[in-house]
Amino acid sequence: MTLAERRPVLSVRGLSVRFLMPGGRRIAAVTDAHFDVAAGECLALIGESGCGKSVLASALLGLLPANAQAAGEARIGDLDLLAADERTLARTVRGRLIGLIPQSPAAHLTPVRTVRSHLEETVAALTRTRGRAVVRVAAETAAERAAFPMDHLDRHPHELSGGLAQRAATALALVGDAPLLLADEPTTGLDRDLVDHTVDELRRHVDAGDGEGTRRALLMITHDLTAAERIADRVAVMYAGRIVELTDAETFFGAPGPRHPYSRGLLQALPERAFTAIPGMPPELGDLPDGCAFAPRCERASEACATLPPTAAGTACHHPHVREGIRA
Ligand code: SF4
Repeated sequence: MTLAERRPVLSVRGLSVRFLMPGGRRIAAVTDAHFDVAAGECLALIGESGCGKSVLASALLGLLPANAQAAGEARIGDLDLLAADERTLARTVRGRLIGLIPQSPAAHLTPVRTVRSHLEETVAALTRTRGRAVVRVAAETAAERAAFPMDHLDRHPHELSGGLAQRAATALALVGDAPLLLADEPTTGLDRDLVDHTVDELRRHVDAGDGEGTRRALLMITHDLTAAERIADRVAVMYAGRIVELTDAETFFGAPGPRHPYSRGLLQALPERAFTAIPGMPPELGDLPDGCAFAPRCERASEACATLPPTAAGTACHHPHVREGIRA
């Protein structure tokens, strides 16, 4: 069975998030996102900082600030995450249906408690493991899976480097064995070897079956394209709050290459490719144009781009590239 034929673990339809600012200003952080993440699939959501990736993640977890309004649907099974109340989100979603590796792990750890204490509490809360000695072993196993060193388990968050805090957060996120793992920049602060180890562990977590095939999926938010290439089955590219391209990873990173000019620009900015930055800056999300938001930076822009491009074959562009080799 192909990934596309599998039952989606997460199904997002028309997800939009608006921030209502003082003076009536509206920030369009996410607009009309559509995608599925199938069982056994790793979907990498990529794009520059501030494009709306992490806001989308917060919407899925019900962690948006009070001045945000979310619309659309985001379903795990029969549950619409956007319509769920706080009690449901706290008791059945966070940790149980969605395991989160947060963007700033140190900020999510309680400063006065050790990593061991965090892990043991999470094991006790999210699994059926009981008994002090057994919980201790389960916590150490969780740490091992994320390559968190045993001799640092009794340290407090302020005694950890950024990389170790990231590994502690990864270990905590894996404990609940949630069907959807949401990893928000999980490789930040890690050296390349640890990046590889971390994404390989996430991949193993998704691939591990329960006898009837895997029921786990990963949505990885990242601007680390090398990590995305190592782990992803499909890639979704976000620009100015919209998903502008959704395609399989082999096509995206391989010789055919992506079709959207922004996606190609992201790849061409890599040192191992052309090492050429995309000119200009992303637009203000509070002042988006009516048409394509990438137009001021796009060498293919035409008058047609003053209107919003339709999405065809996974690409939102009036003048998408034809498939051809783009490696430098
Ligand atoms: S719609 Fe036009 S401006 Fe936007 S990416 Fe495509 S060609 Fe460029």
